[in-house]
Amino acid sequence: IPEFRVMNIDFKKYSDGLVPAIIQDAETRVVLMLGFMNKEAFNKTKEIGKVTFYSRSKQRLWTKGEESGHFLLLQDIQVDCDNDTLLVKVNPVGPVCHTGADTCFSEANKPGFLMQLEQIIGERKQAPAEESYVARMFAKGLNKIAQKVGEEAVEMVIEAKDNNDSLFLDESADLLFHYLMLLNAKGFTLQQVINILEERHKK
Ligand code: AMP
Ligand code: ZN
Ligand code: ZN
Ligand code: ZN
Repeated sequence: IPEFRVMNIDFKKYSDGLVPAIIQDAETRVVLMLGFMNKEAFNKTKEIGKVTFYSRSKQRLWTKGEESGHFLLLQDIQVDCDNDTLLVKVNPVGPVCHTGADTCFSEANKPGFLMQLEQIIGERKQAPAEESYVARMFAKGLNKIAQKVGEEAVEMVIEAKDNNDSLFLDESADLLFHYLMLLNAKGFTLQQVINILEERHKK
């Protein structure tokens, strides 16, 4: 259980003594759920290292996961600018929502479009060739995809030297799209590339 700085939380701000607690996955940063904590819930959370709310419906302390076993293991707590809202970073043991979903806010946590596109490419690989460009490219094999990335890169370079912004942007999109296919064909993900860039940035 991590140790915490002394926090000045304004539990008296609202007459019910509750402050909202936004629960976020410490690793993926996905917003998982929202609950409320009073001082007792907050102290218990720190004491046992498992997120504990004051449940307004149950009208008692509620350790998330107490029935399901899907606890939220405490990693960090941050307080907002005026000390009346908590951001609680956790490692979830299982699905967080009572519906069985990973998060109570699935719409809000869609991956960025590049990641979505990467996922679509992975799905379309197996589609019937006649209806899918991606499937046709994968049928031609890794070398053909790699070659196509090279061609799109050259096209982009040519447009970069010209003064046509719209053609340059189009070729940039072509390059990125074919690059995502190449990554997939090699068995890698965009996240792995991002990780390398982040590592370099730390140095
Ligand atoms: P749990 O704390 O996961 O053992 O679940 C106990 C009960 O709390 C469930 O039967 C639900 O009624 C409720 N519950 C569980 N997860 C959530 C959630 N994310 N949001 C609201 N209520 C929940
Ligand atoms: Zn605030
Ligand atoms: Zn939910
Ligand atoms: Zn092109």
